[in-house]
Amino acid sequence: MSEYEKCPLLYKWNRLDRKKPSVPDNSYYAICGIVKQKLFEDFYNKEWWRKGAECAPYMEGLAESYFNATLEWAKVDWNNPIAKLSKEQLIEEVRSGVRKGIKIIKDQKLLTKDSKSEVKLTATLKNKINILGKVDFIIRHSPEKVWIIDGKDTAKPDKMPKVDHRQLLFYSLLYYENYGVYPEKVGFMFWRHDDVLYYDPKKGMDEILKWTEDTYWKVRNGKFDPKPSSSNCHFCKYKNDCEAYTREVKEGGVTFADDVTEINLF
Ligand code: SF4
Repeated sequence: MSEYEKCPLLYKWNRLDRKKPSVPDNSYYAICGIVKQKLFEDFYNKEWWRKGAECAPYMEGLAESYFNATLEWAKVDWNNPIAKLSKEQLIEEVRSGVRKGIKIIKDQKLLTKDSKSEVKLTATLKNKINILGKVDFIIRHSPEKVWIIDGKDTAKPDKMPKVDHRQLLFYSLLYYENYGVYPEKVGFMFWRHDDVLYYDPKKGMDEILKWTEDTYWKVRNGKFDPKPSSSNCHFCKYKNDCEAYTREVKEGGVTFADDVTEINLF
């Protein structure tokens, strides 16, 4: 929904048409977050946490092979000027993320025997709209005490409070529709900053429901107008295929800040 809000044409090409960009996307900024996410998915789902003190070195040892496996499908253009760090430095960043991630999990008590990662939740709302979402981490302390956590690789600490937390509220809604109770906590875990920001899992639910319904009907009615802007287009993988983008660049409507260093994947 956030992608549709950002640019309906991007949503259509990416989610509905599954269009391949004519120039492959450069995953330089995203790859560390993807690899950390995959390592912690396996930390929970393969129960690596049972290794105790050996867990962190075990995961650090896997950083390079997980990075290389990701490179098989996520292209990185090492010759692009944005690639200021080498592959080895990025792998070290992943190792650092592993150490920080484990520290956050310990400090914030984000581990129970009944914890799972990459959990797909689906539901049908009262208005018959089907919704689905894939939750990074569900930490179940008991049936009534459940925490939903989403991992973020945000680089700059001042950007942490700006991450769109409606994603968490949407997961909260999905959880409620499945289990009849809201999660006790929802939060973003920031791999680089030893921190979790929590939000009220019930606050703003009317707005989420309205947003869901509005988006659904716009998609059903085929409303996919492009929304070119500097922030929307900067990381868009369809730049080279998009007439609206080309037009805006010619007219000076889209300009890029030099200090853009990260993307919000939601
Ligand atoms: S380049 Fe910009 S306008 Fe075109 S699809 Fe991407 S985000 Fe939308």
